[in-house]
Amino acid sequence: MPTSDSKKLIVQCILFDLDGTLYYSPDYNARVEAEITAIVAQTLKADVSKAKLRLDEERKRRGTLTGALRVLGVNRSLFFQTLAEKIEPFTYLTRDPSTILTIEILKRRGFRLGLVTNNGRKMVEKILSAIGLEASLFDVIVTSDDSEPKPSSQPFLFALDKLKCTPDKTVYVGDRVQAELLPAKKLGMRTVLLAREGIPQSDQVDVVIARLPEVLIHIEREHQ
Ligand SMILES: [Mg+2]
Repeated sequence: MPTSDSKKLIVQCILFDLDGTLYYSPDYNARVEAEITAIVAQTLKADVSKAKLRLDEERKRRGTLTGALRVLGVNRSLFFQTLAEKIEPFTYLTRDPSTILTIEILKRRGFRLGLVTNNGRKMVEKILSAIGLEASLFDVIVTSDDSEPKPSSQPFLFALDKLKCTPDKTVYVGDRVQAELLPAKKLGMRTVLLAREGIPQSDQVDVVIARLPEVLIHIEREHQ
């Protein structure tokens, strides 16, 4: 059973998810959801409520938005391009000093840091800027412009390769078990779940946290 006790994960590298992990905003999510549904409706030439039903159904079945978009015939790069053009993260997202400080401290402690997101690069840049995180804090940023999206193993392997990290010396921090912790675990990484509501029972999860700064307690740097 996953615990939030003092279990230490001793590693050299940390990979972070972006959306829902390094920021969380219900208002922003609602705005993104509305735009996603509009794009799907346009692609399917269906009305919004029908498109929403189809999208929810496929998301449940595939486990990720990008997986759902693929089966619904939505072009991924065009999709993320449209989102980035239509949505302004600055309207919804603000700097979260505790998140910024957490990443800065980990960087100072000498971890190699990566960002592995299913979002598109243009949007990622806008989001990082809106939440006040310097892109340069991450040694690698893998987006859906660079790789197949999670749950594919490709973005994880791409990040590990760039960081020159091995899975056994790496922790993955994210907010979704099926879409990202499961594939990370399969590759041999340790996993931290950021769970805002309740603690799920899953053997894919090594540590459960409720707030991002808690990673500072659980993850320790292995000295080479
Ligand atoms: Mg996420």
